[in-house]
Amino acid sequence: MLLHDERVQLVEFCRRMQADELTVGTSGNISARSGDHIAITPSGAAYEDLTPESICVIDLDGRPVEDGLEPSTEVPMHTSVYAHTDARAVVHTHPLYASTLSAVVTELPPIHYMVALLGGPVRVAPYATFGSPELAENSVRAMDGRFGVILQNHGATTYGDSLATAYTRSVYLEWMCRMYYQARLLGEPNILPAAEIELVARKLQGYGRSAARGSE
Ligand code: 13P
Ligand code: ZN
Repeated sequence: MLLHDERVQLVEFCRRMQADELTVGTSGNISARSGDHIAITPSGAAYEDLTPESICVIDLDGRPVEDGLEPSTEVPMHTSVYAHTDARAVVHTHPLYASTLSAVVTELPPIHYMVALLGGPVRVAPYATFGSPELAENSVRAMDGRFGVILQNHGATTYGDSLATAYTRSVYLEWMCRMYYQARLLGEPNILPAAEIELVARKLQGYGRSAARGSE
């Protein structure tokens, strides 16, 4: 089976995405790249029914490389992220707070220092129809210098050098969107300066390394 390990991982993270309420119904999609191939979730599939066999494999141009279910409608967005970055995994979700903010603001400001994990304040890409090349283009443009983007009136997308990292970025992005939403209800939130976010980004490069080594 092509990309066996990636398929198994995709199924595991789809289940997590559902349990963590990062998406609703069959919305959202996840992919992982290995060489010239990309494993991606099928379109419209119920996450609880997913198996490694139901995951699709496409090439870097988005063409299916074997018979199977129809790949996600967001193939153009996933392949564009791989074309423009060194991503090894892409996570697209419809979480409540990022989606809420996406309808109101043009950027998630540095409300918390962990915005550094996303590369800085996360921009909102202008709306385009789901699955369209325009949405793919708007997403990668708004993602410039960032590891994630909020999609206007839609949801969010993050990437990383592993599926675990891409997924963690989605979790933090949604948490900070929720924090910003709540802070705005209380008043005018304090926003951190850009220099502080750059400093934190440098500190995060070594963060958690010794714990990771300890559990090896
Ligand atoms: P798919 O089910 O085709 O992956 O689409 C879900 C989605 O989130 C579209 O933006
Ligand atoms: Zn979507």
